[in-house]
Amino acid sequence: MIHTNRWSPDTCGCVVEYTWDDEAPQEARIHRYARHITVCDVHAHHGGTEDGYRALLDDHRQKNMAIAILLHEYPHIEYGEIGWSYTPDRKIELRLNYRALEPWEDALKETFAALGQPLPPQHERRLNRALTAEEIDHVHALCDLQLGSEQARIVG
Ligand SMILES: [Zn+2]
Repeated sequence: MIHTNRWSPDTCGCVVEYTWDDEAPQEARIHRYARHITVCDVHAHHGGTEDGYRALLDDHRQKNMAIAILLHEYPHIEYGEIGWSYTPDRKIELRLNYRALEPWEDALKETFAALGQPLPPQHERRLNRALTAEEIDHVHALCDLQLGSEQARIVG
């Protein structure tokens, strides 16, 4: 049986429908473009076409890839701490909004500081979590490689 799903990506205002066949084997299931319900301003030049669908899939993949690179390289960062947006020319800007430390984390930091001891290695990275300039450069180099030159940047 052919199913139709509606999708509104978080990367633009398009709303599209695609179909998939539940009788196809799991590994061979593909999403086929069906139609646009809404075409956003970013993708308006494609009109409501399959090319427009491919373009929004690419956008969505690029954004997810940038976040995945960051999480893969620096696993102490939590997914919910990564914010993102686009510049007017559709480059991805990533922002790190670290959650507040838990009271026990603050207490741990204070205790080790009072003792004049380094933090235990399993806690050190989480408690001193800000990325260095070198680490940010490293993420940018990987993004340039995977997404194209200067398509994604950490800006805050
Ligand atoms: Zn769109």
